[in-house]
Amino acid sequence: MNTPASSEVLVVGGGPAGSVTAALLAARGHSVTLLDRARFPRDKACSEFMSPAATEVLQRLGLLPELEREPSARPVALRISSHDGHSLVGRFSAAPVKPWQSAGLALRRDRLDARLLAAAANAGARVCEGWTVDSVIHVRAAAGGVMAHDRHGAHREFRASITVGADGLRSRVARCLGGVRRGRPRRVAFVAHLAGVTDLQPGQAEMHVFDRGYAGLNPIGDGLVNAALVVPAGQAKLSRGHADQFLLDTLRQLPALESRLRCARIVRPTLVTGPFAQRARRTIGHGIALVGDAAEFHDPFTGDGIHMAVRGAELLAPVVSAALARRDVSARALVPYVQARRSAFAAKRIVERVLALGIAHPRLFAACIRGIARRPGLAHTVVGVSAGFVPVTALFHPGLFLLPHPAS
Ligand SMILES: Cc1cc2nc3c(=O)[nH]c(=O)nc-3n(C[C@H](O)[C@H](O)[C@H](O)COP(=O)(O)OP(=O)(O)OC[C@H]3O[C@@H](n4cnc5c(N)ncnc54)[C@H](O)[C@@H]3O)c2cc1C
Repeated sequence: MNTPASSEVLVVGGGPAGSVTAALLAARGHSVTLLDRARFPRDKACSEFMSPAATEVLQRLGLLPELEREPSARPVALRISSHDGHSLVGRFSAAPVKPWQSAGLALRRDRLDARLLAAAANAGARVCEGWTVDSVIHVRAAAGGVMAHDRHGAHREFRASITVGADGLRSRVARCLGGVRRGRPRRVAFVAHLAGVTDLQPGQAEMHVFDRGYAGLNPIGDGLVNAALVVPAGQAKLSRGHADQFLLDTLRQLPALESRLRCARIVRPTLVTGPFAQRARRTIGHGIALVGDAAEFHDPFTGDGIHMAVRGAELLAPVVSAALARRDVSARALVPYVQARRSAFAAKRIVERVLALGIAHPRLFAACIRGIARRPGLAHTVVGVSAGFVPVTALFHPGLFLLPHPAS
């Protein structure tokens, strides 16, 4: 393989976080090498929903127009239902802070990720598929690149001034940097593409919370629906060897979905992932930084992980570029990235904690859904906050909690 022994930046992982980081740094004139163990296009366990917050970043990067040419769907609203049959509908365009576009984008990850990786290559990054990173190498107490192997068992060193870990939930780079903190609850996800789902509302993605977890239905175009099921890890053990059946049977047990999924069939085998509540202990070190799920994984309920991955890349790239220009890639030079992440994502963590509480207490969740559904303004705000384009502070506006006048 004709790969240079060393580059300024080495990115591990070619998902949204890694591809966008590589594209932005290559576009700034840096020499960038990106390694991914997979060959693209590859599937990814994901509900494949992007809110307008995510598409706004892709638009800024100039990538949205070609993504929109792919077969896809345009969600304009999210319906959240509780186990007792109540639901709220939040429309993006009715939120108190207007999104830049009224619709998000629901696009298969094999297509999205292949396009983003191609964008990195087009910007000048050297993309090496089929290389699995085993460890980070150190040069004088700083990260100096990685050791990796290919499918034929060939091992080699890739050296760089800065190593970026964008290798997802089970990040090898995060483990080498300082380890990960595993959180609770321990949950596992099952994700498939279904045909034959009935009674879909145009432009509406759905989340259904039930006593053991939650399920999402997200139309992705071509008549297909992405179905995701998240259950406690202990229960997921029952699925061993028959994930497809487990997914369909569990979804059909939900009263709201039973008749709608009667004729549904799985057209892409179920992908299983988890447990996933975890966060890296450190996001930067000397000559090294983490981005995307490698830095912290967020509960899939909010469907905002892709946004945080590409936004994280946008925050990281200028800091890395400036550090390289100053020839100082120490942890101290990367601190502005940590600060930028904190201010961009702190609210997300609050939303997530509140959601986790609700999901763990289905009766409390159902009571909240009932209360919010009676206040449509609040429903739009809640969905906007969870989708990442409305600030959490919007939830404290007292007017939101007034019930509509009976005559109105
Ligand atoms: C069930 C579920 C549903 C979700 N639904 C949504 C949703 O609807 N919307 C949304 O925005 N987010 C969703 N997410 C979250 C979203 O999938 C992630 O946040 C997003 O993929 C993060 O992107 P990333 O680039 O950080 O990591 P990834 O997309 O995971 O990419 C990591 C890349 O690193 C590569 N890699 C891993 N290890 C190595 C190694 N050792 N060497 C080389 N390469 C390696 C992998 O092959 C992969 O290509 C969901 C997640 C789950 C689990």
